Amino acid sequence: MIVVKVGGSEGIDLDAVCADIAHLWSAGTRMVLVHGGSAETNRVAEALGHPPKFVTSPSGFTSRFTDRATLEIFEMVYCGKVNKGIVERLQRLGVNAVGLSGLDGRIFEGKHKDSVRSVEDGKVKVLRGDHTGTVEKVNTHLVELLLDGGYLPVLTPPGASFDGVAVNVDGDRAAAALAAAMHAEALLLLSNVPGLLRAFPDESSLIERIDASDVEAYLEFAQGRMKKKVLGAAEAVQGGVGRVIFGDARVEGPVSAALAGRGTVVS
Ligand code: ADP
Repeated sequence: MIVVKVGGSEGIDLDAVCADIAHLWSAGTRMVLVHGGSAETNRVAEALGHPPKFVTSPSGFTSRFTDRATLEIFEMVYCGKVNKGIVERLQRLGVNAVGLSGLDGRIFEGKHKDSVRSVEDGKVKVLRGDHTGTVEKVNTHLVELLLDGGYLPVLTPPGASFDGVAVNVDGDRAAAALAAAMHAEALLLLSNVPGLLRAFPDESSLIERIDASDVEAYLEFAQGRMKKKVLGAAEAVQGGVGRVIFGDARVEGPVSAALAGRGTVVS
């Protein structure tokens, strides 16, 4: 089976992703789709008068500061607009897709982190009231039930804390944990770039191949949220996933192209 994660950045062609998935699904490929929704969440948050706040940790990782109001907007967009938009596309293409968040059936579970360290003006500050977490456990049983019943699971953050609180989890790392737990042969991380670039944003600097034992060394090329993808790729291959491909979701047939090795292949 394969796990496909499609991001929520500008430029991603969800119609092309869904058409390709429908094609592969009807040919018998067992798969799960995980998606993001960051650009749309930013737009809705601005429109609702609660603009997004991003924090950068002392180790250089960027994440969304998720207070309760942000979490609710995040759920409206990820579990509502984006998730149902994808499920509708797939249903129209004849795929019996079921959209669930990681909170449903505790598909993605992890510890609730209430505070986050943030570097602001060169100083480290501690911000409280955060609703984030890292996926530590995946409820594969529910996902398998759906697949065995002929349904294509379409999954999205948030996840559930061990106390049942909704927590914002990173979609790439959640997809990596899912791929490892499901013993997937491949994890595709599709975004609005051709793959991991050595000199971002120069698209001709694509890194085509990374050895599984050496993924973390490539963190230095990734900026901002790309770092989470590299981390997710490392976690997936260390968790036994055969290969991880960073692929382009702006092209025709984006899933087949990535499966054929177009992008950055980690194995
Ligand atoms: P998505 O929402 O599609 O999952 P993210 O916005 O989280 O994607 O991460 C992808 C983004 O990472 C790209 O759009 C690009 O702006 C940025 N990026 C930073 N460094 C790199 C790099 N070295 N190679 C490719 N993309 C990079």
